[in-house]
Parts: sequence; C-alpha cells; structure tokens
Amino acid sequence: MKVTDHISQAKGTLISFEILPPLKGKSIESIYDHLDPLMEFKPSYINVTYHRSEHMFKKRADGSFDKVEIRKRPGTVGICAAIMNHYKIDAVPHLICGGFSKEETENALIDLNFLGIDNVLVLRGDAPKNETFFEAHPNGHRYALELLQQVTAMNNGIYLEDDLMGGIKTKFCIGVAGYPEKHFEAPNLQTDMAYLKRKVEGGADYIVTQMFFDNKKFFDFVAKCRENGITVPIIPGLKPLTTRKQLTVLPRTFHVDMPEELASEVTKCKTDKDVEVVGTEWLIQQSKELKAGGSPVLHYYTLGKPHVIQQVVSAVI
Ligand code: FAD
Repeated sequence: MKVTDHISQAKGTLISFEILPPLKGKSIESIYDHLDPLMEFKPSYINVTYHRSEHMFKKRADGSFDKVEIRKRPGTVGICAAIMNHYKIDAVPHLICGGFSKEETENALIDLNFLGIDNVLVLRGDAPKNETFFEAHPNGHRYALELLQQVTAMNNGIYLEDDLMGGIKTKFCIGVAGYPEKHFEAPNLQTDMAYLKRKVEGGADYIVTQMFFDNKKFFDFVAKCRENGITVPIIPGLKPLTTRKQLTVLPRTFHVDMPEELASEVTKCKTDKDVEVVGTEWLIQQSKELKAGGSPVLHYYTLGKPHVIQQVVSAVI
C-alpha cells in the first residue's frame, strides 16, 4: 500500500521507522532483532536506506595500493522484500542517484515492481566518504529531481528504450527529502525551497524531512512550504540524541542546530546513559508536540537504538 494511502486512511498520526541494512556479512536476523521490539506499535511502513559504494585503498604485497570500490551495506531491495514477507507491512526502499546509471536504476525499479513494492524515497545521495563534492555517474542523475522524473516516466509506461512500446505502468508512490534547516549546499532556504517545489511539481507525493531537534524549525518549514504552494504531506524525521559526542557530530554531519536548552542539559550529563535519558525525554516532548500540531506521521530514525524508540513511541501513542 502507498504511503499516501496510509496517510489518507489514517484516523490520527501514524508511526514509521527507518533502518539501515546490516553491514555486509551479517544475517537478516540482525534486522529482525532490531525491528521485533518495535512491531508492537504497528508501524505503517518501514524505510530502508541505500548506501553507495565507497572507495578504499587496499595494500598490495609490494607496498603499493589498489583503489577498490566496496559497498559496506548492500541489500536494500532484499531487506524490503524480507520485511514485507516477514511482518506483512510495507517497506519503503531509498533510491539514490550516486553511483548508479539510469539503466541500473531502471532495473532496480523493475525488481521493486515485481516484488510488489509500492513506494520509493528518491534521493540524490552524498559524495563518497573522503570526497568533497557529489559527482553524478556518467550515465546517471545529477539531482533527485532527475531520478524522480525517471520513476514518474515508468509510472507512465515510459522506459529508457525509445522503441519499447506498451511497457507496463508502474505505480510507485514517490517520497522526497526536505530540509527544515536548509540543505547544506543550498545558498539559502528560499532557493532550496524552490528546488523542493520542483520535485513536488515533478510528481513527488510527500516529503520526509531531515532530522531536527527544534520543532519550531519544522513548523516554520511546513508554513513556508504551504506559502510556496507545496501542499503534499510533510513527515517529520526524528532521531534521539543518545551520546554526548552526538552534540557535535550531528550538527557537523547533518547540518542541524542543537537547541540551547538541549545542549546545556546534555553538557551537564556525566555519562552517555544520562545523555540517553535526556535525549529520550526531549524526543518524547518533540513527538507529542508534533502529533498535537497535526503531523501525519512520526518517522523515527532507529539507527541501532530500538529500545529508545520503544520508550518514546510508548509515551506518545
Ligand atoms: P536534491 O533534491 O537533488 O538536492 C541536493 C542539493 O541540490 C540541494 O542543495 C538543492 O537545493 C540543490 N538542487 C536541487 N535541484 C537543483 C538543480 N536543478 N540545480 C541546482 N541545484 C539544485 N543518503 C543516502 O545516501 N542514502 C539514503 O538512504 C538517504 N536517506 C535519506 C533520507 C532522508 C529523509 C533525508 C533527509 C536524507 C537522506 N539521505 C540519504 C541524504 C541525502 O542523500 C543527502 O542529504 C543529499 O545531499 C541530498 O539529497 P536530496 O535528495 O535532498 O538532493
């Protein structure tokens, strides 16, 4: 079922989770161990992230180095199929531009369609680790908008081969990313908003946001989207703060601000266990306020902390 159908049929705020594929070599059981404790909350769907390959240098016997490409977390499509099969709930695979040709993307979409997966979250992806700028695959997409256009073309039965007539029309519900605190490469929020609007005009059915710790930023962003004529559902992305290190790592990695009050509470903590208590309470308050403010879904980045998410969701629903 499509994410937008879940939203339109809901009586209140829905819950969804996001997971990462396990590191290569780990079994699917690690995913079930992670998700099992969260199933009591009957999530409407589960997102599975996509990870591009990274360049690594492997030392040869003669001391020189080989540059190799390694994908540390493969398996997004397989995990989505496993989740749907195991839990009988919808899975939302992330699709990225980075590292993929249009043909590879088309083949992945064909696989997803055959597997009965109705949803995709389309993203550009970031530059590989240790590289500063995002570079598109020579036969790939530069922006999420272009990837989205490929998915909407397939939804209209148009494939990459010009002479392929009568191709089946896929029915993907398409999500895109939005940034309440602006995407880090955008010169300003208004420019970023204009590109977001183009994604919606291009066929995006809903927006999921980058994590944020200050609800005002989210509510202002939603208001600005509405002023700019963006009417699709906007789903807040939420993450618990659980270690002291994250106070600096999250702003640096995700370009988000930490509210003064949260930062000062965390600074007073003596251990990461104490930080987790502060972070859990903060996320409970954030979630309650977002629910009261009419958010269609609360989307939690679970990232190895299912017990924290469990506490938060139990306090909120
Ligand atoms: P885009 O929408 O393409 O925007 C990228 C930048 O380009 C923005 O600054 C935008 O303003 C600008 N821009 C857009 N269109 C144009 C244009 N036509 N001309 C000039 N500038 C333009 N990354 C992963 O690798 N895997 C994941 O699974 C993943 N999941 C994510 C889930 C969520 C909810 C979010 C918020 C992010 C996720 N990311 C993931 C990270 C994401 O890939 C990065 O934030 C990336 O840098 C931008 O992706 P985007 O889809 O927002 O890009």
